[in-house]
Amino acid sequence: MRSVVKAIHSIRLLIGEAQDSQYWWLTTTGVYSVKSGYWLGLLGHNPNDNFDEATCKLWTNIWKIPAPPKLGNFVWRASKGSLATRQVLYDCYCVPSPICDRCHAEPETIFHAVCECPNVAAMWNTSSSTPIPRDATRSSLFSLLQWMMGYASNEEVLSLCTTLWAAWFFRNKDVFSDEQYDPIQLAANLQRI
Ligand SMILES: [Zn+2]
Repeated sequence: MRSVVKAIHSIRLLIGEAQDSQYWWLTTTGVYSVKSGYWLGLLGHNPNDNFDEATCKLWTNIWKIPAPPKLGNFVWRASKGSLATRQVLYDCYCVPSPICDRCHAEPETIFHAVCECPNVAAMWNTSSSTPIPRDATRSSLFSLLQWMMGYASNEEVLSLCTTLWAAWFFRNKDVFSDEQYDPIQLAANLQRI
């Protein structure tokens, strides 16, 4: 404890006339606004971030999905790469390997976790799910969503997003819980949100 106090006392303070002040860094005025707090708290990013046109269009379309906000929030975070997959944790030096904990075959990107991992394959084959079209772009979840928004109906997009959500829910239960879930039943239940 003494070493901590000593370390704090050793910090050299700025000598001058400058006064401390409060500044909210998410607005240009430095004054907090509910809007900026909403974006940061709910969406995890700065409303002043500069997105390209494609990203803005996808963002707009995601929020038009006629579904509970938590589904749109999930899809947005997934398409941004903000979910804690093994690949994301590996990139942050939190785990020693990016390889998927469940299939041990490939790095666990979000696309792998919810679309490609053999453990979620059954969820995409249920009668209540909209399968990923054969000619859809599969390079990333962002690309897949862009493709779906451009070519699929609203109902198909909603069904796809719901299955993505169900697959992520199932993945988390599989990795972090001892409970056993039937992926097909889970996908069917979550389609009725
Ligand atoms: Zn896997």
